[in-house]
Amino acid sequence: MTKAEYTELKKLIPNKNIVIVTHKNPDGDAIGSSLALYGYLKNFTEQVSVVVPNDFPEFLKWMPGADEIIIFEEKKESVSQILLQAEIIFTLDFNHYSRTGDEMQAVLSQTSCLKMMIDHHQQPDDYATYTYSDTGMSSTAQMVYNFIEAMDDLSLIDKDIATNIYTGIMTDTGSFRFRSTTETTHRIVAFLIEKGADNTEIHENVFDRNSYHRMQLLATALKNLVVLPHFRTAYITLSQKELEKNHFKKGDYEGFVNHALSVNNVILACLFVESTEEKMVKISFRSKGSFSVNEFARNHFSGGGHTNAAGGKSFDTLTDTVKKFITTLDLYKTQLNG
Ligand code: 5GP
Ligand code: MN
Repeated sequence: MTKAEYTELKKLIPNKNIVIVTHKNPDGDAIGSSLALYGYLKNFTEQVSVVVPNDFPEFLKWMPGADEIIIFEEKKESVSQILLQAEIIFTLDFNHYSRTGDEMQAVLSQTSCLKMMIDHHQQPDDYATYTYSDTGMSSTAQMVYNFIEAMDDLSLIDKDIATNIYTGIMTDTGSFRFRSTTETTHRIVAFLIEKGADNTEIHENVFDRNSYHRMQLLATALKNLVVLPHFRTAYITLSQKELEKNHFKKGDYEGFVNHALSVNNVILACLFVESTEEKMVKISFRSKGSFSVNEFARNHFSGGGHTNAAGGKSFDTLTDTVKKFITTLDLYKTQLNG
């Protein structure tokens, strides 16, 4: 985006009816970036809301402004109206309407208002009037910081906005360890702490509020861990039965895939989770180095994401999905061992 476009946008925003939307099964970056932008835009208009397609995990409910988030799935009619009446829609942390789910996608497709995309995933769609897309960015939250800076408004970043940006960056960078974490990311984070983001408290709120049942589910996941040394791959399965036995709650298996990736010499890790409710197997892919799970998920499991983190789905049974996965790995044997 050019400087002139930011100037143009800044003139358009005041007193407009604005809606911020993010992707289905929102994560820390989706919620963090959306709430940070929400906090910022409230300086210019009273009519601004955050809409998410479905509910988000308990470990993000403490975030400043989280209780004001509107959940599409809980009141489809009225939220559809909110979307259709919006004058400006910001779409955050996704770049294709399909990432919001079939029903919300259908509503978004009917809207014709001005749109701005802020996102760091690969292969962006072209629905937005203004597109700020940068796949090199650690997180959409970092891009919201950049957006506020480009609007010449860093002075408006208060403790709440800083906390939300920090949480988005922290969760999307595996606590500042992934390759996308640069010196600039750390400079921004330093600024956020200066503005009041309490780093210790944020880490504790997100990572240290585990339930007993979640720990038991983790034990089950680790017992199910399979390592395929000849493919430098490790994977974990969780069946619907195992989820139920451990009183599964949304977000409980978040991060489990990283345990598979932490096995020595493993560069590709997957988590397969059976969902009888959604009639599919949800898959998380993670990799190290140049092996692109974005391509892998796109080509074989109807998904996508980034080079080192992607998601996908399968409509086969859990067992058949894993079988297909192992067969598919054979195509990548050289690459995985390269
Ligand atoms: P997770 O495994 O945490 O669900 O997702 C990892 C990354 O892949 C996230 O950045 C997420 O936005 C992206 N992702 C997850 N599922 C999909 C999908 O079905 N399609 C696309 N394009 N990206 C996905
Ligand atoms: Mn993100």
